[in-house]
Amino acid sequence: MDSLYTLAEQWPLITEMSRKKEVFWENPVYGKTIEEPQGFELTLEDIKEADARLRRFAPFIQKAFDETVKDEGIIESPLLPADRFQAHLEREFHKMIRGSCFIKADNALTVSGSVKARGGIYEVLKYAEELAVNEGLIGLDGDYSRFSSLPFKKFFSDYTIICGSTGNLGLSIGIISVALGFKVTIHMSSDAKQWKKDLLREHGAEVVEHEDDYSKAVDVGRQVAISDRNSYFVDDENSKPLFTGYAVAALRLQNQLDEAGITVDEKHPLYVYLPCGVGSAPGGISFGLKQVYGQHVHPVFAEPVAAPSMLLGVMTGRHDALSVKDIGLDNNTVADGLAVGRPSQFIGKLLENQIHSFYTIADEQLYQLLATAYDTEGIKAEPSAAASFIGPIKMDVEEEEATHVLWCTGGSMVPEEVWHSDYQKGKI
Ligand SMILES: *Cc1c(COP(=O)(O)O)cnc(C)c1O
Repeated sequence: MDSLYTLAEQWPLITEMSRKKEVFWENPVYGKTIEEPQGFELTLEDIKEADARLRRFAPFIQKAFDETVKDEGIIESPLLPADRFQAHLEREFHKMIRGSCFIKADNALTVSGSVKARGGIYEVLKYAEELAVNEGLIGLDGDYSRFSSLPFKKFFSDYTIICGSTGNLGLSIGIISVALGFKVTIHMSSDAKQWKKDLLREHGAEVVEHEDDYSKAVDVGRQVAISDRNSYFVDDENSKPLFTGYAVAALRLQNQLDEAGITVDEKHPLYVYLPCGVGSAPGGISFGLKQVYGQHVHPVFAEPVAAPSMLLGVMTGRHDALSVKDIGLDNNTVADGLAVGRPSQFIGKLLENQIHSFYTIADEQLYQLLATAYDTEGIKAEPSAAASFIGPIKMDVEEEEATHVLWCTGGSMVPEEVWHSDYQKGKI
């Protein structure tokens, strides 16, 4: 393994990163043709299939979660204009933002209050469907509200869902698994917030706490699952269904932009700012958006200064072979959802030429943006989600009529006192 010194010699930005400085990196191979990674064929059709599966399950979701009745069992969040927030950013940072800012409010996603409701819930539903169809309990055109009936629950109670998580993935997987009747075990990293563990236990999930970081929690979960045929492991570092579930967001965003009368084309590019942990959520969303908008959409990833794992992996081309610990970082950040030291095994390779830029952000800045978003737009974000809010300041966008989407990835499940304390830190 290379030392920090040799790495920094080849990639000078690593020196800054290792000192926890905020950095910005524009991807030199963005939009260029690269060798396609082997063994990963996913297309727009797969994303549409995932969308159709979620629609099949809508009658079940609606029955199991009251708050989804208004959307007829479709778990989706609003796209909100963010003019006041934009004006505040411009004043605060003395910079004009070309175009208009919107907030994609996944903090308000029903069922589990974060972006993880997209991928995590999708993967468990997909598995449940496979089991039920194979068992002859239901056909693809059957009445899916029966997934909440006793015979289904009894059938699923022989199976265990397992995952490793920094918190929000565990919440999503735990809540949906329990609703279906599965047993569920969530391996939580040391960064995971106490309230997330408590909430999961309240729902009836088993929570195993680890002294180590997220990668270790995932490892242990994976090992336990391998040894048991009736266990299913949601592998945040390497899951295609999870990725596909996240990608469905692209179809939904396309509808919302259409409804708002927003064009996306050469003259009206779309910039999307995405908080990044292991890379599944931002990767899946970017992949989906590229299928829909091609070269007119530009994904930008945001990471905490203490855990720029995807940036490190993509910039060096070493991907999951490097951890942020290799450049002396401790992975210690208030952005618990992004506290990931080693990136996904496949996303960086797959999207190497499809991520426009990366930037990192300091914890103090996250608190301030979290407070500002509440003061200007009434948005309750968790610190991880606030990483996207500064995107339009970090990027130099030239097109006058650009659309900026700040992806607010989580927040509504944060207990009032925890949220308030974060808010206060941003006001000082
Ligand atoms: C998990 C998470 C992310 C990032 O998703 P990854 O798939 O880990 O990259 C962003 N924001 C929040 C709030 C999260 O919980």
